[in-house]
Amino acid sequence: MADPTAVVIGAGVAGLACALTLAERGIAVEVVERGRTLGDGSCSRMAGGMLAPWCERATTEPQVAEWGASSIGWWAERFPETVLNGSLVVAQPREAAELTRFAARTERFDWIDADRVAELEPDLAGRFRRALFFRGEAHLDPRRALAALASALQQRGVAIRFGVELAPQDAGTEVVVDCRGLAARDALPDLRGVRGEMVVVRAPDVSLDRPVRMLHPRLPLYIVPRGEGVFMIGATMIESERRGPVSVRSAVELLNAAYALHPAFAEADILELGADLRPAFPDNLPEVRRSGRVLHANGLYRHGFLLAPVLARKTADAAQSILHMETSDADLPQRRRA
Ligand SMILES: Cc1cc2nc3c(=O)[nH]c(=O)nc-3n(C[C@H](O)[C@H](O)[C@H](O)COP(=O)(O)OP(=O)(O)OC[C@H]3O[C@@H](n4cnc5c(N)ncnc54)[C@H](O)[C@@H]3O)c2cc1C
Repeated sequence: MADPTAVVIGAGVAGLACALTLAERGIAVEVVERGRTLGDGSCSRMAGGMLAPWCERATTEPQVAEWGASSIGWWAERFPETVLNGSLVVAQPREAAELTRFAARTERFDWIDADRVAELEPDLAGRFRRALFFRGEAHLDPRRALAALASALQQRGVAIRFGVELAPQDAGTEVVVDCRGLAARDALPDLRGVRGEMVVVRAPDVSLDRPVRMLHPRLPLYIVPRGEGVFMIGATMIESERRGPVSVRSAVELLNAAYALHPAFAEADILELGADLRPAFPDNLPEVRRSGRVLHANGLYRHGFLLAPVLARKTADAAQSILHMETSDADLPQRRRA
């Protein structure tokens, strides 16, 4: 490979998506990652992998849906295991008003009845009278998706150097893309960590084809099928930067939600309990900030997989401008400031 023009620091979803987009635009790039293996020490390993722009629209800024909608095609093209089965939103009968409130805040869904719920997810037959079906949404297995991006980079001759810790100012390339996630706080003082906890279980007696969100006024949760009887149950959203293991309270709440969705989860094996801090800016929207030849691509918050493609496009566009290359993307979404 030619001497790299750009270095990407960090091989989480932001770094890999940025590196691949730069390589696809013909920029010689390499990636450095301080972890010893892919995903080691990265928040991206913990994600649920929901590509759910319209579900997210119910609780976040409109830009999330606008930017996230295009990411489903981006992933499907680069990661054929992306599952395009939509997503389902349900609520316990006593929380039925939550469904109506959720529906009022978003779009691109169908109200469905118990028969249609049973058709889509036979294991949920008879459990919910009404639900919302977002047919245009998708999901993926984040760890396999990261591996697919790494392999796409390898095919393009892009090196990922593991076990290398680099500060942006020490990189010698013409363009430096800082994708260090929360570790970039030295350069981005308004970046904060939002704690998320999740559980992975194996429940061979339960079968789901798509993510299911369970609405609850205090603790909305979701269950994402990973295939072969494995499910990720996530995720808490706690304004805390405490690192460390999942608390008993969170584990109980996550497992209770799964049990409420289907009692067969009571017999599941717990495979993993995990926690990490999502990197977020004050408005919870991602951003590319330029400082000389350094581009800080960060703030993916709870939308790492959903918004990494658009963050990567914006980053590549800024890199091309540093390199005085013509920009191919004229329609990049612009960040709106409040
Ligand atoms: C429980 C949970 C559930 C989630 N669910 C979803 C979901 O369903 N859908 C979704 O889209 N998002 C989800 N997210 C959010 C998503 O995981 C994050 O937004 C995303 O991982 C942030 O990616 P990143 O690449 O910016 O950071 P990271 O993944 O943390 O990557 C940063 C990388 O930089 C490396 N690094 C740091 N400093 C250096 C250095 N000096 N030199 C070299 N390397 C360095 C780190 O080792 C790390 O690998 C979830 C998060 C959590 C915690």
